[in-house]
Formats: sequence, structure tokens, C-alpha cells
Amino acid sequence: MPRKTVAVNYRACEPEKCEDGICLAALVCEKNILIQEAPYEMPDTKASSCLSCAICVQACPQDAVLVM
Ligand code: SF4
Ligand code: SF4
Repeated sequence: MPRKTVAVNYRACEPEKCEDGICLAALVCEKNILIQEAPYEMPDTKASSCLSCAICVQACPQDAVLVM
């Protein structure tokens, strides 16, 4: 089975709507696959072994994170 990956829909992501500009999805990812370099910046994704747990999907208030 192909490994799942996480992706950010940059058209939906609005860091300014997250408290203090902190990416909640990046905050909850224990594998550090979603990385936010600084507050109010959109997160990047790092190629790594995603657990497909979808905790990041649930954490994002803008529904901007997808596990595919
Ligand atoms: S939690 Fe969602 S909307 Fe907020 S910065 Fe992260 S991906 Fe963007
Ligand atoms: S699905 Fe889980 S492991 Fe993968 S990026 Fe989201 S929180 Fe991290």
C-alpha cells in the first residue's frame, strides 16, 4: 500500500486566523512533518514517515491540511 503523505492547501491556510499566528497543525504533529518557521507563516511539509494519524487535520481550524 502506498505511504500516505500530508499536504497543505495554501488557498485555505490563513495563519492570521490561528491564535498568535501559531500553526496548530504543526504544533500537534509529533513527527515534525509539518514545520512552521515563524508565527504567521504558512507551514511547510517535510518528506518523512507520516503516521497518517490525521491529528493535524483535526487541529487545523481552516480545514487546510489533508492526508492523502
Ligand atoms: S493551523 Fe491550518 S490555517 Fe493555521 S497555519 Fe496551520 S495549516 Fe494554516
Ligand atoms: S497525519 Fe499525523 S504524522 Fe502525519 S503530518 Fe499529520 S500529525 Fe503528523
